[in-house]
Amino acid sequence: MRFVYSTLPSRVVFGAGRVAEIADEVARLGVTRALVLSTPGRAVEAEAVAETLGERAAGVFAGARMHTPIDVTEHALAVLREKRADSIVSFGGGSTIGLGKALAYRTDLPQVAIPTTYAGSEVTPILGQTEAGKKTTLTSPKVLPETVIYDPDLTRGLPPSVAGPSGVNAIAHAVEALYAEEANPITSMMAEEAIRRLARSLPKALTSNDNEARADTLCGAWLAGVCLATAGMALHHKICHVLGGTFDLAHADIHCLMLPYAAAYNREAAPKAMARIGDALAADDAPAALRALSLQVGRYEDLQAFGLMPADLDRAADLAVEKPYYNPRPVTRDDVRAMLQAAYEGAAP
Ligand code: NAD
Repeated sequence: MRFVYSTLPSRVVFGAGRVAEIADEVARLGVTRALVLSTPGRAVEAEAVAETLGERAAGVFAGARMHTPIDVTEHALAVLREKRADSIVSFGGGSTIGLGKALAYRTDLPQVAIPTTYAGSEVTPILGQTEAGKKTTLTSPKVLPETVIYDPDLTRGLPPSVAGPSGVNAIAHAVEALYAEEANPITSMMAEEAIRRLARSLPKALTSNDNEARADTLCGAWLAGVCLATAGMALHHKICHVLGGTFDLAHADIHCLMLPYAAAYNREAAPKAMARIGDALAADDAPAALRALSLQVGRYEDLQAFGLMPADLDRAADLAVEKPYYNPRPVTRDDVRAMLQAAYEGAAP
């Protein structure tokens, strides 16, 4: 056995109602003027966070967009400077947290992240950014938020159509951590536990007012994010970045649809990982169980439903092999094209 395991420095405050502690958490970082970030649809809630921050709030920028477009980052950077902010509070899903990370990358300001989806970005040193239709990722300790407040109350209003795919996005981090290049025994333990928690609690978290299920799902999402941060990713994340970034598709929806197909791609090459995923899902065949979950909580049954054309699959396959991530089974253009075709048709993985 040979591995490298690095723990990342981040403070996690977990529990219902704990968003109320935001001012203390910002003060703890030794800063006095935080810019609160959100997506446009969550501006009212972001204003409420700023109000809770009181005199430690420098203002609100409610312009975050999916896939972190560089022009939005530049606009936010101008606002950050104009308001003389010395810190960042990202209130929202992966899009908002991505913007906070993009700002921290450019300014080295400290961040408090308050996630309201299950994307997991708040605990990773990874930043994805999009420019001219191309999404690229970088890894830097500068982008890792110093503090994360996980408040399950904040996911209460999350529409099932967002929460379901977002939960599968988290499962995808854990699935790939089991066969990623930096996989190690500690992360694998967390990954299996993350899949187990998310699979058992996500469906309940969507359809009922079950506080415990939402807390369990959020805890699973945190674990899954840590897995992504410490073990890395493989073909599934690559193809999702290509599809999402190139065709501007919803990140979590594309993860939710593609995960069973990427797992099937690696079925024979990563048998131990498949067995652990199967254990966590109480199923014999991991890709088939992931497909069942994806259909249960997701919005799309096939890639066609995203409005893609066959020529788009050709382009995606080309891009996926341009700078491939590590993957247990060699990544070839023809094999990736065949995987995309199966997803396009919604075939059994
Ligand atoms: P998102 O942040 O865009 O949120 C989806 C939608 O849900 C938005 O319209 C948002 O306003 C709304 N929303 C969020 N929380 C809500 C709540 N509690 N109640 C009601 N509405 C709410 O989507 P996402 O899937 O969370 O994030 C996707 C982005 O995150 C992508 O850009 C992706 O690349 C990035 N990401 C990055 C990492 C990383 O480690 N770098 C990991 C995962 C995702």
